[in-house]
Amino acid sequence: MEKMINFGIDLGTTNSTIAKFVKGEVEVFKNPLQTGSETLPSVVYYKKDKVVVGTNARTYFERDGKNVFGTFKRKMGTTESFKVKSINQSKTPIELSAEILKELKGFVHSGEIIEAAVITIPASFDVIQSNATKEAGYLAGFKQVILLQEPIAASLAYANKHKEKDLVDGQWLVYDLGGGTFDVALIKIKDGEMKVLDHEGDNFLGGADFDNLIVEKIVIPYLNKNYQFTDLENELKSASGKYNNVYYRLVKLAEDAKIALSNRTSSEIEVRDMKDDNDEEIDISIDITRSEFESIIKDYIDNTTDMVKKILVRNSLKPSDLQFTLMVGGSTYMPYVRKRVEEILQIPINCDIDPTTAIAIGAAYYAGTKEKNFEQDNKEKNVSGIKVRLAYQKTTKEEEEILAGRFDGNIEGLFYQITREDMGYDSGRKTLINRISEDLPLVKDSYNFFRLTILDGQNNVVETDSELIGIAQGKYNVAGQPLPHDICIERDTDPEMENNSTKLELLFQKNTILPQKKTITVALNKSILKGTTEKIFINVLEGPYTALPEANQSVGCLVIDGSKVSRDIVRNADIEITIEMSESRDLKATVYIPMSDQQFTGVFNPSKRQLPIAKLQDEVGTLSGKLDSEISDAVEREDYETADILTVLKKQVDTLVINSNSLTDDDVTDKKFQFEDSKRKIAQEIDNATKGKRIALLKIKYNEDKEWCKEIVDENGNDHDHKIFGEIVGRELAFLNSVTPIKIMEAIEELTDLGGNILWRTPLFLEGRFNRLVDKPQLFNDQEQAKSLIEAGNLAIKNKNFDRLREINWGLISLLPKSAQQDASTGKIGF
Ligand code: ADP
Ligand code: MG
Repeated sequence: MEKMINFGIDLGTTNSTIAKFVKGEVEVFKNPLQTGSETLPSVVYYKKDKVVVGTNARTYFERDGKNVFGTFKRKMGTTESFKVKSINQSKTPIELSAEILKELKGFVHSGEIIEAAVITIPASFDVIQSNATKEAGYLAGFKQVILLQEPIAASLAYANKHKEKDLVDGQWLVYDLGGGTFDVALIKIKDGEMKVLDHEGDNFLGGADFDNLIVEKIVIPYLNKNYQFTDLENELKSASGKYNNVYYRLVKLAEDAKIALSNRTSSEIEVRDMKDDNDEEIDISIDITRSEFESIIKDYIDNTTDMVKKILVRNSLKPSDLQFTLMVGGSTYMPYVRKRVEEILQIPINCDIDPTTAIAIGAAYYAGTKEKNFEQDNKEKNVSGIKVRLAYQKTTKEEEEILAGRFDGNIEGLFYQITREDMGYDSGRKTLINRISEDLPLVKDSYNFFRLTILDGQNNVVETDSELIGIAQGKYNVAGQPLPHDICIERDTDPEMENNSTKLELLFQKNTILPQKKTITVALNKSILKGTTEKIFINVLEGPYTALPEANQSVGCLVIDGSKVSRDIVRNADIEITIEMSESRDLKATVYIPMSDQQFTGVFNPSKRQLPIAKLQDEVGTLSGKLDSEISDAVEREDYETADILTVLKKQVDTLVINSNSLTDDDVTDKKFQFEDSKRKIAQEIDNATKGKRIALLKIKYNEDKEWCKEIVDENGNDHDHKIFGEIVGRELAFLNSVTPIKIMEAIEELTDLGGNILWRTPLFLEGRFNRLVDKPQLFNDQEQAKSLIEAGNLAIKNKNFDRLREINWGLISLLPKSAQQDASTGKIGF
């Protein structure tokens, strides 16, 4: 069985594609039902007794439109479901997506079972939408699903198509205009690794809108002019309309005409098999010119470039700072889109990759570096019981890569040998010891596979769990995937408490690279008596941590109640909460209560929004209270403009408060979701209106940190440190005046890093840190090792060997519990 996942899937709004990574190259599978096509239309049709997916399903739009479903990706992560008349059931977006994934498996003609895949998602997908996508994968039978952001996939496809020498470090944009969605991302490439720095998007803008526009602005007016209709548009568009079936056909004809216009300057739409209100047979051909079409989509395309400009402004970039705009998505085939995007942005466009398959290709490259991690049924037997742990970098720009190996078990009298698959390298037979390290020479610009074999004294192979080693030389990879939104934890989250004032604490910041893990200690805000129904709520939210909790979305809630604790937990007792988030954004929370020495683990991965009504009502109440204090605050500082905005919002919130009383838990409609949505939007507006105040606070923090860092630089910094410090401070004017807090936060981080780096070179600090580390020796998880390090540390201090002391400090830190390591390694915070 292959060790790597290898399969990459673009689960698109309109079209989906599957590709596989095979020894350094990517194969895109063909659609078996549509010659010349590599994509599957993301359409599902439910016939009475069977499910039809893709190419054939699309043809039923006209004949049986009510049982055909497309563009459901837009509804991922909502509780909205699609009513299927033919089978009298409802299908969720997750179930429909699973049908697409199952159908894609059929593209893989080799008959191999696909148990794991990398599936792509828009950069803007939140935790819930991501979870919904994973769930669709599991429903389709995958045992492991890794999510990859679409712009990264497109960039990987681009970078791996080019040789290293063609790519220089810098930044570019990915402009993805598909059938149903538009996404733009800012990508940075440095030393062969790429990162998404920022993104924008609209889930309701794409090629399907252009098809609709052709029908609306050209076909309908033409038919109205030449035939007798009283309310044609309505009869076409409403589900119960007289001409509703014809509508789907017209949209399809419009799409064909649109696609033809990418190659020709005019095209036609032939309307037949339809009668007007007077029963007159229609059989006409409507001409449509490219310029006519361009004029009706202009506003939409300008909308996309506006979003790109937003990114440029937000990141203080000029067009010349960007290498190019990488064009992906089927709608970028349109010459008008290419021309307009280049013209408006003044950045050269790049059409080097196939816009419809690039995402799947990039996903497959990624899948080639990702290991399967589920229990495989037919795992080879590890007769010898020797456990092999190998560590190496899977992608590299070096010509040699170090392989470190650890062997547990009875290895006495055994040997090892490493060979490259092309036989270009052979380590020779060497005596096996518990830890080995080898430099593996690599063939340039290709995938290098090595095999590590364990041999006995008679040169017989000894079975172990060692697997094939794959290293890509000169291939591009991503520096992990960034988190698209902040993840925070809500403090004091008991919805039953009156006047609770909640506050968000940042767990993981937007754009940090996943996976992440963090432990925080909080004091309980009330007592939990053993055997009672009293609860502790641990609520994890997604959205700006600087915002009000109500502006964000709950992505998980762990509840511990009195029935689970083994003794009374008193108010103010400490609890330790550890939150982990995987690359594919699985959340896991572990709560440790020292008082009862109990640990609770909860995996909460909601794939639909869950909304307890009591919590909603509570939140609008809190919002209303907050608004009162923000308004008086604004009036006090004579900021009447803000006060006015907040007063309008206050009225809206008060209406929500009244309406919230009529919400019930058994309501089957979308009412509470709409309610939640309004609440979130208002909270975001409050957030915007009060941003100035928050920026002011960050400025204070920046100035404090600047002072702190300056002192360190002045005392112990070298020329380079002075230069970096000068650079940060030199940008001050720009970020202190920017409209978002992000840049200030980044500068604060840079200062913290700079100061920390210098301190770690400073004898006095190193000595202090050492003393601090040895202060709580019971924390170290290997007492013996800690003891010898401490002895060596004392000696190093005596001999003033500070390089050694630094190493010892790092050694001691690595013996600390993971949760304490991060704090212990910074220069600033205590631990
Ligand atoms: P998605 O990412 O939404 O799944 P795609 O990237 O596959 O979608 O793009 C599909 C859209 O591209 C459809 O609206 C289709 O009409 C449009 N499209 C495909 N080829 C062309 C073309 N040659 N000219 C204009 N539009 C095209
Ligand atoms: Mg797409």
